[in-house]
Amino acid sequence: MSLTAQDYEAILSEAIRQLRASPTFAVVAATTKRREAKQEVIDFSVGQPAEPTPEYVRKSLAAMIHDDKKWAQMSKYSPVSGLKELRDAVVEKLYDENGIAVTFKNVLITNGGKQAIANAFAATINPGDEVLMADPQWVSYPDMVKFHGGIPVALRTRDDFKFTAETLRATLAEHPKTKWLIINSPSNPTGAVFSKDELAALAQVVLDENDKRKQDGRTALMVLSDDIYEHMVYDKNLLYKAQDDAAVSYNIIMANPQIKPYTVMVNGVAKAFGMTGYRIGYAVGPEELINKMSDYQGLETSGASAISQMAALAALSPENVAQRKQHFAAQRKAYLKRRDLVEELIEKDPNTSMSFKPTAGAFYAMIDVTDMANNVGGTKKLAERMINEKGVALVAGDDFYVEPDKQERKYLRLSYATSEENIRSGIALMKELEREILPDGHSKGLVR
Ligand code: PLP
Repeated sequence: MSLTAQDYEAILSEAIRQLRASPTFAVVAATTKRREAKQEVIDFSVGQPAEPTPEYVRKSLAAMIHDDKKWAQMSKYSPVSGLKELRDAVVEKLYDENGIAVTFKNVLITNGGKQAIANAFAATINPGDEVLMADPQWVSYPDMVKFHGGIPVALRTRDDFKFTAETLRATLAEHPKTKWLIINSPSNPTGAVFSKDELAALAQVVLDENDKRKQDGRTALMVLSDDIYEHMVYDKNLLYKAQDDAAVSYNIIMANPQIKPYTVMVNGVAKAFGMTGYRIGYAVGPEELINKMSDYQGLETSGASAISQMAALAALSPENVAQRKQHFAAQRKAYLKRRDLVEELIEKDPNTSMSFKPTAGAFYAMIDVTDMANNVGGTKKLAERMINEKGVALVAGDDFYVEPDKQERKYLRLSYATSEENIRSGIALMKELEREILPDGHSKGLVR
């Protein structure tokens, strides 16, 4: 006798039952269907650089593969916390690029930045613990928090998609059980980048809160600083060591080093080096926490893939610093050009209701599509129509909100990590659908 779908449902854990289906599922399914039918798709939904991993990484990895000793090393399990050489390379990277001093004992190599975040939550979240995050934010944060029994709490953002120190202070006062504050700058999905001063103000709120908590004997508030897009910044005023080709945005520790004992940094090679497929990330933080995150990783997945760690070593190795800088300079220039092209085609076109106020980082543009979305019943419906009718894949803005009902404007997330040609033809198709949805006028109406 076989089991029914309901029988299998009954087997599932509460945690997995609560997991929402991937928010981008409908768009991904429609994209796949079109591709299978050999129909054109312009993909603005991807979260990865279009270019392959830089050539210097390929050459360096190939040399390692032909080195007998390294070949033997990459054939075996890596230590759970990662290869010592890679942990050392991360230490050097943090010192050179971010001006932050740590030792290899503060570094945990993970299966992508995603596992670094999951490890941090698995090691610390108890049922009912609250985690503060910008609204909108990366889709995985709230789901990961919920999976571990925590509660995501939205920090309302301003028109520039950033939350303020005042909002943080007020939200903390209402949520005394907050265990983590997530800061993702530059942000997925908005591209917003905090300045050094804004981060210093946030740090002060966290330090004040922790002074109070210490006096009351309460658990400390921790900061998860997701720095994965740190090299993709297009405003010199927001860069540390702005003249350096490998310059990065500030993070909260760089804005106020006193916050270091309360912070876990998350990063990886996926976005910076177009190495999403290698699955190498890292967490850097207080040794006591890093050790516990490592214990959890040892239980779940063991050390990250050794050959991928070698590839990450090739990317980050101090020996390849010149090529790395060249790569970052070229990458920044290319993305800035594409961001400006999106601005030209959307913001500077008076004949579209869509708008886009450029943000300073990452490779995402939140396109304000309020007029169209209101007409078709929301951003999910609009994203479905874009892919089904025009072959343009975008992610619905609503998917990035803990509180989608409270947003005043409505968005589609457009990833400009694609060719200029695709940007031109994809936006032309978006405007085509706009003329069908809003035949009686599609000029710039409301301003965000
Ligand atoms: N953090 C943010 C904000 C991201 O957008 C992503 C990937 O999309 C990650 C972390 C995880 O990156 P990975 O696991 O590929 O290293």
